[in-house]
Amino acid sequence: MQDLLIPSSPKKRVVIVGGGFGGINLVKKLHRKGFQIVLIDKNNYHTFQPLLYQVATGGLEADSIAYPLRKIFQGYADFVFRMANLESVNLTEKSICTNIGTISYDYLVIAAGSINNFFGMDNLAANAMPMKSLTEALDLRSLILQNVESSLTTLENNDKYLNFVVAGGGPTGVETAGALSELKKHVLPNDYPELNFKNARIILIESGSRLLAGMSESASSKAQLALEKWELKCF
Ligand SMILES: Cc1cc2nc3c(=O)[nH]c(=O)nc-3n(C[C@H](O)[C@H](O)[C@H](O)COP(=O)(O)OP(=O)(O)OC[C@H]3O[C@@H](n4cnc5c(N)ncnc54)[C@H](O)[C@@H]3O)c2cc1C
Repeated sequence: MQDLLIPSSPKKRVVIVGGGFGGINLVKKLHRKGFQIVLIDKNNYHTFQPLLYQVATGGLEADSIAYPLRKIFQGYADFVFRMANLESVNLTEKSICTNIGTISYDYLVIAAGSINNFFGMDNLAANAMPMKSLTEALDLRSLILQNVESSLTTLENNDKYLNFVVAGGGPTGVETAGALSELKKHVLPNDYPELNFKNARIILIESGSRLLAGMSESASSKAQLALEKWELKCF
């Protein structure tokens, strides 16, 4: 198969779009199985999404949860990585169109993840800050810290900068709200001794009847008790 972007190979080519958990594991499974593997991702790193909340709340540096894809597959034979954004698929010609050009395939796997589900709440989509990528987590961290700085220099109603609302009481919402509470109790008071963080409010909103709905009822009530002990409001 001849292609300007990818070295030619007598082997059948599998193009995998997405270097998330799915794409990475598929590369590992197909390695040495007689294919040329081409992995493309719009970033040249893998994001460990379960710890995005730590980056958003300043507990971890971004580097700690971003792994260079080239490093993961160092030494892999018949493997090519290209940083590229998938734009369209031409099923007839068996090729994909990306921002760096066209790549042909024998087999195509799209493992490009999912998009945020706002459950039909347009207001949330328009006003909330999502947390699905490293850049979004860094934006959140930046906004949180900018708000704290603003609350220091605003004479009236500075509490409005210290209200945090987390939408969604699943595992990530609970973790994020908990991490914000730790920030409020243990980190920010040391960095901003002039501010009274007793006025800061962290509110966790869940539309269902309990937090962590996918887990046991006892886990839900323990999580809620723990959060409320930290003066966090759950609705
Ligand atoms: C905040 C958060 C916390 C989570 N916590 C947990 C947890 O604790 N436990 C758990 O089991 N799961 C957790 N998950 C879910 C888990 O991260 C996902 O199920 C998993 O990442 C899905 O893997 P994936 O490979 O399908 O997609 P992803 O990991 O999303 O990877 C998709 C890849 O495709 C790339 N991509 C997307 N579009 C394009 C394009 N057009 N062109 C090129 N590349 C593209 C992206 O850059 C990305 O690298 C969490 C998710 C989030 C967002």
